[in-house]
Amino acid sequence: MIKFSKPLGGIVDFKKSLHEDDALRLEELIRVSEVYLSQPERKLCKNCANKLAGAKDSFVKMGVKYVFCDRCGHLNGSREDTREFCEFLYTKDDGKDYASHYKEEDRERFIDRMARIYSPKAEFLKQALEERQVAPEDMTLSDFGAGAGYFLGAAREQGFLSVKGFEPSQFMVDFGNECMKDNLLELCGMGETATAVRASRSNIASFIGALEHFNNPREVLSAIRDNTNINYVFILIPMFSPSVVVESVFEGVAPRLLVGAHTHLYTLRSISHMCGEFGFKIISEWWFGQDAADLYRSILASLMKKGADAAFLADYWRDEFKPLLDDFQSLIDRKKCAARLISC
Ligand SMILES: [Zn+2]
Repeated sequence: MIKFSKPLGGIVDFKKSLHEDDALRLEELIRVSEVYLSQPERKLCKNCANKLAGAKDSFVKMGVKYVFCDRCGHLNGSREDTREFCEFLYTKDDGKDYASHYKEEDRERFIDRMARIYSPKAEFLKQALEERQVAPEDMTLSDFGAGAGYFLGAAREQGFLSVKGFEPSQFMVDFGNECMKDNLLELCGMGETATAVRASRSNIASFIGALEHFNNPREVLSAIRDNTNINYVFILIPMFSPSVVVESVFEGVAPRLLVGAHTHLYTLRSISHMCGEFGFKIISEWWFGQDAADLYRSILASLMKKGADAAFLADYWRDEFKPLLDDFQSLIDRKKCAARLISC
């Protein structure tokens, strides 16, 4: 099964004071980039472990140099995301700081976020399995880097009855278990994921926006390959896409894709290399990105910064361009350069 696009929906509603929120976010991301730049040089490709020295294609963004691996085409930031860097990002103050971007204030909003963002993903997984005559209720699922368990909750609603999650932030574990009224989440340090995958007895391992955050994704992938209980892998990963170009042009607007915790991005070639090396066969894929929304937001934020002088243009942009975003995004998605879901 191959699927393209999903409605951008609420992503493009900037009802709050976009420019003020954006300025704060940008300041925070600049601080993260400074910490990233103080890390040691990344010598090996994050995806295939090939030497990066001498790689031909590169660019600089927010002071950080990025290179495409000569062997697998993966995009690598030139600094290592060390365990210290990952801990700085995700687990300082029990993960409360990082969690502030992902957790919702109360149970009602938890349910709403789960339904809006995670239910379509769980449904996709269910459909991909059903195409292969596999019933979700017969499967056991472990979600790694599970956050507050939004995907677990959504999967359970789709008929995956046996689910559990592993998450490095105690804060998220407690919050998620409380919202789901069940102890589905357990604490698992960033560096312990490969061990947890190796010990897993589940048939499905899922990584929803998680694989790219581990400082040892190759160890995690090896653990999947070596674990004969795991029949299917469900992965959502960020791709190098036109959003990176938009972010490079609008330097005064907070970037989303290639910044902060995203120190490397996948490409068609690097995914193909990963599947070849670790023995995965892609059975279903879903391509969807936010490039159109990023372009829209970047231009709108830049116009709003100009104040009254550009108020007319900001209104025009909002009224005329916003209705086109889904169509515009679907053209990009069909070129297969967008965040992507695969199940193997
Ligand atoms: Zn590589």
